[in-house]
Amino acid sequence: MKITHDFHIHTRLSLCAGPNGGTLQGYLKNAKELGLTTLGFAEHFWDAGVGFDSLYIPSRNGKDVPWYYKTQNFEHIYELKKEIDATDTGDVRVLFGVEGEYDPVNHGIAVTEEVAEQLDFIIVPNSHTHMMMDKALYTPLEAHRDYMVKALEEIATCPMAKYVKAIAHPFDPVTVPLDEETKILTIISDDVFKRVFTLMAEKNIAFEINTGTMSSIYRNTTETEEHERMFYLAKACGCKFSFGSDAHSEAGQLKHPEFSQKLVDLLSLTEDDIADFVK
Ligand SMILES: [Zn+2]
Ligand SMILES: [Zn+2]
Repeated sequence: MKITHDFHIHTRLSLCAGPNGGTLQGYLKNAKELGLTTLGFAEHFWDAGVGFDSLYIPSRNGKDVPWYYKTQNFEHIYELKKEIDATDTGDVRVLFGVEGEYDPVNHGIAVTEEVAEQLDFIIVPNSHTHMMMDKALYTPLEAHRDYMVKALEEIATCPMAKYVKAIAHPFDPVTVPLDEETKILTIISDDVFKRVFTLMAEKNIAFEINTGTMSSIYRNTTETEEHERMFYLAKACGCKFSFGSDAHSEAGQLKHPEFSQKLVDLLSLTEDDIADFVK
């Protein structure tokens, strides 16, 4: 089986992509070259409708978070939707989604129903701890771990959970050094993984294979083993999978087919294991 979708793509509308970040046209060109038939755009997004209390958590990136997310409001990301509607995308199916955010103050996600209804899909990470977690929780590692477990459980059980199609880069905290990230995985027991993955399977929330992180995962044996343990457990618990490059530029998508295939082969995935929302 070949993966022909990428459901985690950012354009330059995502501020962290910078002014030279990816464009719709650039990704459409990639799609032809990489054999992708579905592109799912998922810009970073905070829905003003949920309020801004959570943006003032004293996180590692705390200083920039209010500006970052207040700028990436619906009007801002809707520019892409207008561009998609005005573009002949040929044989490529293009979907307008968001990488929404976990909202720890309101114990849910930072997207309202009104906006959710205008999107093709929503993915939400439990691991944007650099923005949404009090930096005091970086140590001990158990506190960081417990935050991500709780985040995932709240994402999957909040009233908006029915709109959440996948957990983006599960348990891969952004900006944390690789060795520390691996240490966090090692202190997540099989039982805890099974509990949260069973919950995701019940709620029909897919496990995202984030191909953007794969080159680092496959550099180091412990990192590889710990991630593969997580992937196997997700499959054993009945989770469906979606694949996303997390590209912020066209170049960031180029390894997507190669790493998708590696994971399909590793986990012996078939069509049945692929999340319905990507089909
Ligand atoms: Zn992310
Ligand atoms: Zn992303």
